[in-house]
Amino acid sequence: LRRNPGEVEFHQAAHEVLESLRPVVDKRPEFVDASIIERICEPERQIIFRVPWVDDSGKVRINRGFRVEFNSALGPYKGGLRFHPSVYLGIVKFLGFEQIFKNALTSMPIGGGKGGSDFDPKGRSDGEIMRFCQSFMTELYRHLGEYTDVPAGDIGVGGREIGYLFGQYKRITNRYEAGVLTGKGLSWGGSQVRTEATGYGTVFFVHEMLRARKTDFDGKKVVVSGSGNVAIYAAEKVAQLGGTVIALSDSGGYIVQEGGIDLDAVKELKEVRRGRISEYAEKRDARFVADGCIWDVPCDIALPCATQNELDESGAGALVKNGCIIVAEGANMPTTPEALRVLRRGGIEFAPGKAANAGGVATSALEMQQNASRDTWTFEYAEERLHDIMQGIYGTCAMTAEEYGMPGDYVAGANIAGFIRVADAMLALGVI
Ligand code: NDP
Repeated sequence: LRRNPGEVEFHQAAHEVLESLRPVVDKRPEFVDASIIERICEPERQIIFRVPWVDDSGKVRINRGFRVEFNSALGPYKGGLRFHPSVYLGIVKFLGFEQIFKNALTSMPIGGGKGGSDFDPKGRSDGEIMRFCQSFMTELYRHLGEYTDVPAGDIGVGGREIGYLFGQYKRITNRYEAGVLTGKGLSWGGSQVRTEATGYGTVFFVHEMLRARKTDFDGKKVVVSGSGNVAIYAAEKVAQLGGTVIALSDSGGYIVQEGGIDLDAVKELKEVRRGRISEYAEKRDARFVADGCIWDVPCDIALPCATQNELDESGAGALVKNGCIIVAEGANMPTTPEALRVLRRGGIEFAPGKAANAGGVATSALEMQQNASRDTWTFEYAEERLHDIMQGIYGTCAMTAEEYGMPGDYVAGANIAGFIRVADAMLALGVI
């Protein structure tokens, strides 16, 4: 705490992981001797920089840019960029820390990192977004490389932003180094299924949880928070597997439609028009609630897919009361520690983000594979790979939890399995 004052979210994420590790350090004292825990909590490198840009009225604006290169024991740093006014070092470090273990769980050769800016893209013109991205990359490029650090998208950074960032990287370096960024467009080095991967992957993970309970999505009512990249494609896969998504949200409120939400309309609203979720309810048989809690909507499965700490104690209480059976995190750390205690006491099965939302980064690694081999795969093949990876992650979490005497505790399973993979590599690489 003293080394990282004020970084509340980072403390929360680190505490949650370290809490799970007692049985590991008892079993593997060599990790303690080599100070692996102290080392893993300290980023290898943290970069903070000024991002000056000119808005449409000619005024010079200044934002702050971040990249935290947390751990490269398993491969180049890999993790997204977030553009949101709430971004500061504590958020970037929490996300980077989570990313280390998430990436390890995919079994792919990628280290952990994260970055972003306190820039608010909402309401900005295309030209402003482009100038901001170009200025951001004009500093960041010197820290990147396909063997060094490979960013992707996150909140506020989608295909459009990745395009502007990649364009500036290419211009400055005079290299078409496709493997330096993931989430690229399909015609310029992107991978099929990357857009869908995080949401689809979360639902594949839940599908495995349901199979273990000898059931499936058929007839299940699902509430998904958010209506961005992760939420939209989680909802799409739920519908494909026979479930009904009855609620979605954005930071302005939530919509409920008992018969099932029309996802094509949501995509048009959010991906094309960049509108507000309230507009969905204007022409349809749906209810918009401006100042409520989406978790009050009775459901069988809840998928928080918006942002950190969005599911609190009272939301968790409502889920328990209404008979929800599974909560799976599409977002990073959306569940507060207090809420998790309520869910556990209420007997709700819980899938942590670092396992359940790892499909996005796994498909980014598949994008890097295709870039390295100058290849492009079909949608079906890329989805099959994603599905296999998510089944693998589920299996690893379930087996590890069992091995350590906590069957069904996917939080412990994910933390322990991810940690051991990184810690073993750090031991092998010596004190660096
Ligand atoms: P987007 O920017 O595409 O969407 C974020 C969504 O969450 C928007 O609908 C946004 O609404 C909503 N939201 C943000 N803050 C709040 C809030 N306080 N209350 C309600 N809704 C809110 O981001 P992504 O979908 O990419 O990311 C969502 C989460 O998933 C993040 O935690 C991210 O770190 C995580 N994640 C993303 C991955 C990816 O591949 N994209 C990979 C793994 C994890 P509004 O527009 O009103 O702000």
